[in-house]
Amino acid sequence: MTRHTAPRIAIIGAGPGGLTLARILHLRGLQATVFEREVFSSVRPQGGSLDMHAESGQYAIECAGLAAEFKRIARYEDQEGRLYDKQGKLLLIDDDVTEKNRPEVDRGQLRQMLLDSLPSNAVRWGHELSAVRAHDDATYELVFRSGMSERFDLVVGADGAWSRVRPLVSQARPSYSGVAFVELGIDDADARYPELARLVGRGLTFFVRECKAMIGHRDANAHLGIYAALRAPEDWIEKGGLDTSSPGAMKTSLATHFSGWSESLLELIYRSGDRMTPRAIHALPVGHRWEHRPGVTLLGDAAHLMSPFGGDGANLAMQDGADLALALAGGEDWRAAVREYEAAMFARSEPSAAGARDAIDQVFSENGLSHMLQAMQEHRGQGPVSGEFRHPL
Ligand SMILES: Cc1cc2nc3c(=O)[nH]c(=O)nc-3n(C[C@H](O)[C@H](O)[C@H](O)COP(=O)(O)OP(=O)(O)OC[C@H]3O[C@@H](n4cnc5c(N)ncnc54)[C@H](O)[C@@H]3O)c2cc1C
Repeated sequence: MTRHTAPRIAIIGAGPGGLTLARILHLRGLQATVFEREVFSSVRPQGGSLDMHAESGQYAIECAGLAAEFKRIARYEDQEGRLYDKQGKLLLIDDDVTEKNRPEVDRGQLRQMLLDSLPSNAVRWGHELSAVRAHDDATYELVFRSGMSERFDLVVGADGAWSRVRPLVSQARPSYSGVAFVELGIDDADARYPELARLVGRGLTFFVRECKAMIGHRDANAHLGIYAALRAPEDWIEKGGLDTSSPGAMKTSLATHFSGWSESLLELIYRSGDRMTPRAIHALPVGHRWEHRPGVTLLGDAAHLMSPFGGDGANLAMQDGADLALALAGGEDWRAAVREYEAAMFARSEPSAAGARDAIDQVFSENGLSHMLQAMQEHRGQGPVSGEFRHPL
């Protein structure tokens, strides 16, 4: 087989998108090397639960031949949705999980499932890409922070929001949405804080008021993930908007942004563990696309970073990984396969990105609560459909 029919493939990033691509290529007998900057798989918590959509995340898992493994870690029982106001009054509960097919899965477990399905040497940990050099023979040289370099025929940027591969095809950079999250978590909530576990319930719960929200989700092992979210300037923390001098000070100063909210909701902040992660929410321009460049492509957040208000990011990343792998495995001409993948990926990610942008703007508005109520009623088939609004996260 010549190099043209079997390209040397490098995948930058061992997130859900890159690992899905690697797994399906492996299944189809194509070699690929994944380069990941983290030094090992559990070096940092991967974050909370994701719900896997049938047409994207679950489709990719099927293509990866991992449906049975997924069923073992999927939490079909955690598909509830709840909406409260800032006084803690329950406005809506959507607890009929029997009809739903968007099971939750912990990010860490999803990543481990994909890693376990790959040969042990498929991921090169501790390899942070710092530059890519194009050569006249149509190969690309990857240069890593360690100084090591290696050449490939096809480089796939699956390296997330701040992709180092993206500048090879596009000048676009993510811009700040105006909304900042602080991620908090409560371990072993059923035993330690049963009243908070009951408040959050078995799924995703929103407390919304006037440009602010607290979002709770139940993860595996009775962990509660909490996002305290608000409109804030991008540099709000540097400018003293949050006292980060100690975990206690951080919780107290975060709670002041939610003054007037009921004490029981503020307990979600005060009872959290000491690990608190600020996350400024960025997005690429809706409809981001590029002129095809042979030998380089992007998937997932590197291609179409969007606000989490749409719940599509990881799902689309996995669908991208699956579709690119199937195109590469199925075609005679791998360059044409990449081009076809890009056309389909651009078309499907644009409406998701537009929906995610509209949703974050609506939730973090003065009328955020009524937008959320309407969206959740529509989601469970109880209200008029309002076009663009998507069920958040
Ligand atoms: C608060 C929040 C909540 C979310 N909730 C949901 C949800 O419920 N459902 C959903 O579908 N999506 C959700 N998302 C979006 C989702 O997290 C992303 O869309 C998804 O992780 C993208 O996957 P990816 O594989 O493209 O990139 P990533 O998951 O970002 O993975 C990229 C990988 O590349 C590595 N990397 C980066 N740079 C380099 C480099 N230079 N060299 C080597 N490796 C590198 C990183 O370490 C990482 O492992 C949420 C996002 C946020 C911020």
